[in-house]
Amino acid sequence: MSVRSIFANTALACAALATAFTASAQTPVLNLYSARHYQTDEALYANFTQATGIRINRVDTDDAGLLARLRSEGASSPADVVLLVDAARLTAAEAEGLFQPVKSSVLEARIPAQLRGKDDGKGSQWFGFSTRARVIVFNKAGVKREDVDTYEELADPKNKGRVCTRSGSHPYNLSLFGSMYEHLGAEKTEAWLKGVADNMARAPKGGDTDQIKAVASGECAVALTNTYYLARLLRSDKPEDKAVVEKIEVVFPNQQSWGAHVNIAGGALARHAKNREAGIKFLEYLATDSAQAYFANGNNEYPVVPGVKIANPALDSMGAFKAELIPISVVGLNSTRVQQILDRVGYK
Ligand code: FE
Repeated sequence: MSVRSIFANTALACAALATAFTASAQTPVLNLYSARHYQTDEALYANFTQATGIRINRVDTDDAGLLARLRSEGASSPADVVLLVDAARLTAAEAEGLFQPVKSSVLEARIPAQLRGKDDGKGSQWFGFSTRARVIVFNKAGVKREDVDTYEELADPKNKGRVCTRSGSHPYNLSLFGSMYEHLGAEKTEAWLKGVADNMARAPKGGDTDQIKAVASGECAVALTNTYYLARLLRSDKPEDKAVVEKIEVVFPNQQSWGAHVNIAGGALARHAKNREAGIKFLEYLATDSAQAYFANGNNEYPVVPGVKIANPALDSMGAFKAELIPISVVGLNSTRVQQILDRVGYK
């Protein structure tokens, strides 16, 4: 390489570098740590950038990995906004001091109080942006609806050898069991969980979709799932998925008592957010009608903002239901006690 071309290349590199710096100085950026594991979210982020000009740097990882990363990065963490799935995880992260309060009249007006984190007067620690019900699916051929239309009945001897769930310690189950703990108290919850563990058709394994498929195949007669996994199968064009949904039915449990357990996906401003303003803008964006409809139409979740119009045939076909109204943060706070019960009753 000649001296001249080295100079030319260096000049080019400097010019490129200068452009990059100018661009980053002018384009506001949001660093997003997300544990939402849904491919359909891409449009949600693209729409935000289009509406605000704020570019999103996204780190996608699972909840445990995301929290570990926040912890180890400490004050030097680039995270501005954190998205987590499940109330117990949000509550645990709040308790660890990984978030900071956000005072926003927009979020307070749009997100129901029972779906927000702790508020010491400086704003909420986190906000739920979508919900999902934890429902019961059963095999149409082998099970009567009235035998499985409450969570309590999953522990009834009449359902011996029929029940399938994913691991009891999975956050989706910890949150459901934390809700049961709130409704039933410690003693009855322990008896209930022992009953469910005794009724298993097989040892807990797999995810929610695996439980649905096992119900369809007849390996299990009844199982627990989040609604969006079922909706995904209901909307699928694949013949094998169609065959699965033909064999099963869904029941929203406890409609005669406190209602179906509802969990959330939510978000928070990270404790050490450097782009605070952009972060709050993003959280407020997630509560807009269009983002709310997107959670429903894209990922089959339910909006948290009342009155948002959705167009999702799978959610429509499952119908309206009564949801429990306990503060979702309470459910998270019970998860440690629930885990101890699970260990005692041998619900893996
Ligand atoms: Fe999930």
